Amino acid sequence: MERVNDTKIALVTGANKGIGFAIAQGLGASGFTVAAGARDKARGEEAVERLRATGVDAFAVTLDVTSDDSVAAAAATIEQAAGRLDVLVNNAGISGRTDGNVQDPTTLDLDVVRTVLDTNVFGVVRVTNAMLPLLRRATSPRIVNMSSNMGSLTLQTGPVMAAYAPSKSMLNSITVQYARRLADTNVIVNAACPGYVATDFTGFSGSRTPEQGAAIAIRLAMLPDDGPRGGFFDDEGVVAW
Ligand code: NAP
Repeated sequence: MERVNDTKIALVTGANKGIGFAIAQGLGASGFTVAAGARDKARGEEAVERLRATGVDAFAVTLDVTSDDSVAAAAATIEQAAGRLDVLVNNAGISGRTDGNVQDPTTLDLDVVRTVLDTNVFGVVRVTNAMLPLLRRATSPRIVNMSSNMGSLTLQTGPVMAAYAPSKSMLNSITVQYARRLADTNVIVNAACPGYVATDFTGFSGSRTPEQGAAIAIRLAMLPDDGPRGGFFDDEGVVAW
């Protein structure tokens, strides 16, 4: 699985469907070799078939962001395949259960909070820290964290969801921590908001297509070396924290 050294490689978590698939497709169309992360091996391989059918150079990486072992194995796979990583898109995310008022703050089920944080926040830290040694070997490494304007303390948008929305607020905060820590390196870290997108996540009720939702993440993944760091962006520009 040795790759040509000057082809950039991008890992997208949760790439088997929705916005993640569209990010993988868009980065592939821009010339990246795509490591398509999927927690289910069969779903990952099926996504890679679909990506290859559109002319994208992709390979599947089994990656459950909640598992240390899975993430370590994914890093080893990418190291073996490419020896480095140019772009990491932390896209995998969950809304968490909403039945029985479990995300109403007044009846909040803390197990639901833990589950959502484990994927949406700890998963990002787990994957980022496992991939950083590979990212540091790239000439212009970029990290994009897929957030949501529901995490904006200023905008306070979307339904009341007291596990999901705070998970994205914390993801935004972690994004800034990484950007500050990596300020004197070539690793550029930002958060993206895709807008309200028609995927499984929203019961396909969103007004935007996965391709529209993917656009900002793709843009941030290909920022020039003097691009912004530690910001929160959507298609319109800066999103209020
Ligand atoms: P989606 O269609 O439900 O896709 C989510 C992806 O994440 C799937 O590939 C899923 O894998 C994967 N995933 C979930 N848990 C995982 C885990 N533990 N390890 C690895 N992968 C895991 O959702 P989407 O709408 O594309 O959302 C993608 C991102 O955008 C999320 O971070 C979400 O919070 C964010 N976002 C979405 C919207 C929107 O309107 N859709 C708005 C704002 C932000 P499986 O197929 O195996 O479940």
